[in-house]
Amino acid sequence: GAVIGILGGGQLGRMLSVAASRLGFRSHIYEPAANPPAGQVADRVTTAPYEDADALRAFAESVDVITYEFENIPTDALDLLESLRPIRPNRRALAVSQDRLLEKDFLTGLGLNCAPYAAVTSQADLTAALTRIGTPAILKTTRLGYDGKGQARIRSLADAPAAFAAMQGAAAVLEGFVDFSHEVSVIAARGLDGSVAAFDPGENVHKDGILSTTTVPARLSAGQRSDAVLIAARILNALDYVGVMGVELFVTPAGLIVNEIAPRVHNSGHWTQQGCAVDQFEQHIRAVAGWALGDGSRYADVVMENLIGDDVDRIPQIARERGASIHLYGKAEARPGRKMGHVNRIVTRG
Ligand code: ATP
Ligand code: MG
Ligand code: MG
Repeated sequence: GAVIGILGGGQLGRMLSVAASRLGFRSHIYEPAANPPAGQVADRVTTAPYEDADALRAFAESVDVITYEFENIPTDALDLLESLRPIRPNRRALAVSQDRLLEKDFLTGLGLNCAPYAAVTSQADLTAALTRIGTPAILKTTRLGYDGKGQARIRSLADAPAAFAAMQGAAAVLEGFVDFSHEVSVIAARGLDGSVAAFDPGENVHKDGILSTTTVPARLSAGQRSDAVLIAARILNALDYVGVMGVELFVTPAGLIVNEIAPRVHNSGHWTQQGCAVDQFEQHIRAVAGWALGDGSRYADVVMENLIGDDVDRIPQIARERGASIHLYGKAEARPGRKMGHVNRIVTRG
């Protein structure tokens, strides 16, 4: 049977491994950290840094196709892996989503709406950008940010020096603050044959910069719902993408604004595990393995709740709830802000 190589051994890699196994594939995880969550379910794990060319080569030669659960893989490692096996989604999708500035240039180049933005590498850039964009605004490092890390809010010009200092010398992007009513995301997939399928958009609530809940259906008009799907399809087609992508959107009276894209399965797509015949993990494995995409139509209303830090202490109560499906990632230590698992609650009406 074919082997799916997965870069990254976190919870997304774990759930991809489970999906691969269910489709009859074997999975091989590559992860620098010891004892990764995915290691408990994968067929094979390589524990080695991305600088270890021998380990990378052996990993690539042991698999048929390479995919990933996170976008910050070093370029040299990707060059080596790509010389040996196909990487899906492709390098361009990674390059664009690794860098917020490239990402925004790409998205606006497609005619999509983003927050007003400007590159900031100096205090003078920031002053000029704030003059053009105004306040409130958000300064974000162009690379490596997640869960709201590497961001500083700027309420007024007086906040600018502290915000610039918070970037610690890293290249940054200033974004105008979008006055959104709520946030939604579209999880969409594109197959090797170019076909596109999108899951129903979910509505996302963040706490302390970390996704807290995703609710389907999202509060969207029929027009907004089709806009969301068309935006995702345009992005996937432009990148000649293969796999699942998460597209985060702000809902405003003037229409949908693209916040960011993630070239992988996405936390806000976990509801699909209980809401659809084919969930985002199976869909991703189907796509990267060259299979036809599956049926992702939604048959239930679902609320996904992330279990962060000591939220997992509530598992005994949650286990007694009707309609609650529990997913735990096998992480030993419940540190604050750490994603330990999630619950999908099927919401029944009437
Ligand atoms: P993720 O964990 O989703 O990758 P991230 O660290 O990449 O998060 P963003 O998605 O850019 O960060 O921002 C986190 C949250 O901060 C957004 O979901 C939104 O709630 C808020 N936010 C970010 N940018 C803006 C903006 N320009 N205007 C208003 N709110 C924003
Ligand atoms: Mg992000
Ligand atoms: Mg985000």
